[in-house]
Amino acid sequence: MKESLFYSKLKNDFVRCELCPHFCVISENGLGLCKVRRNIAGKLYSLNYGKTVAFGVDPIEKKPLYHFYPGSLTLSIATTSCNFKCQFCQNHEISQSVTDGRNISPELILDYCKSKNIKIVSFTYTEPTIWFEFILDACKILKANNIKTVLVTNGYINPKPFELLSKFIDAMNIDLKSFNNDFYKDICGGTLAPVLQTIKTAFQKNIHIEITNLVITDLNDNADEFRDLVNFIKNINNEIPLHISRYFPVYLLKNKMTSLDKMLEFYEISRKDLSHVYLGNINNDAKYSKTVCPDCGTVLIDRNQYNITENFIVDGKCPQCGRKIYGYF
Ligand code: SF4
Repeated sequence: MKESLFYSKLKNDFVRCELCPHFCVISENGLGLCKVRRNIAGKLYSLNYGKTVAFGVDPIEKKPLYHFYPGSLTLSIATTSCNFKCQFCQNHEISQSVTDGRNISPELILDYCKSKNIKIVSFTYTEPTIWFEFILDACKILKANNIKTVLVTNGYINPKPFELLSKFIDAMNIDLKSFNNDFYKDICGGTLAPVLQTIKTAFQKNIHIEITNLVITDLNDNADEFRDLVNFIKNINNEIPLHISRYFPVYLLKNKMTSLDKMLEFYEISRKDLSHVYLGNINNDAKYSKTVCPDCGTVLIDRNQYNITENFIVDGKCPQCGRKIYGYF
């Protein structure tokens, strides 16, 4: 347990958590919506500090991050629970229930990375920001030891805590689940505006960002709404990679899997405005997982699922025309 860094004390030993935009008001002995923050005698505590439910090594492509040291391995770590309730959560076993997990420390993560020569640590699978105090401590130590830090996140965090954490974060994959606030409210238990703010802030702070959008049949597959989403990214920077991911029925949602036609339609829409668009969860995805020079069309990185088969990028540039490619290679 560790005392929360962002909360206010209220009357009668109530507290208000200020970590995420839910702003839970919590009575004594009560829990926040994420179920990992408890009010104990008028103070708010993170219950999951140093508790992990997933600890393993993945290709960085699996996050997905395609423009952040392609071909590298990353240590992937998760805690239990989430501040969203997405009805389509692929990791619902660990995100929608609270389990105790194994004890770890920032030092243990660092020692593991050193012993395995791993240069990137990703906080992933469930929502890392509800593990705020732990990832802040871990990222400080990791950065001080030249290990890159990654968040795979729903972006649902308040500006002040994000300001503090962002100093120690190198890259983020942020889920932009829809461009419709009702979708966020009804299907995820959140709101859209704070996510958009996190994306903008992360980019302004020079954090490497990539965006993932899961396209769900009949829920967020309206082409006009998708154009708005693409426009939002373009207005920040049209070089930001967009990963369009195909939905399959999972957890509480029984909608039909997304058709290939819909995936290709959205690919064409986004390619008009964005330099780097990828399709995920489709068979034979090689054509849609290549990194291509936006100027001259040269294939720069070829992928087979999560494996890099070719990487022709030289000094972060296209070897053919010299164009700078967004990211770190
Ligand atoms: S982090 Fe948890 S307790 Fe805090 S506001 Fe968000 S959901 Fe509520």
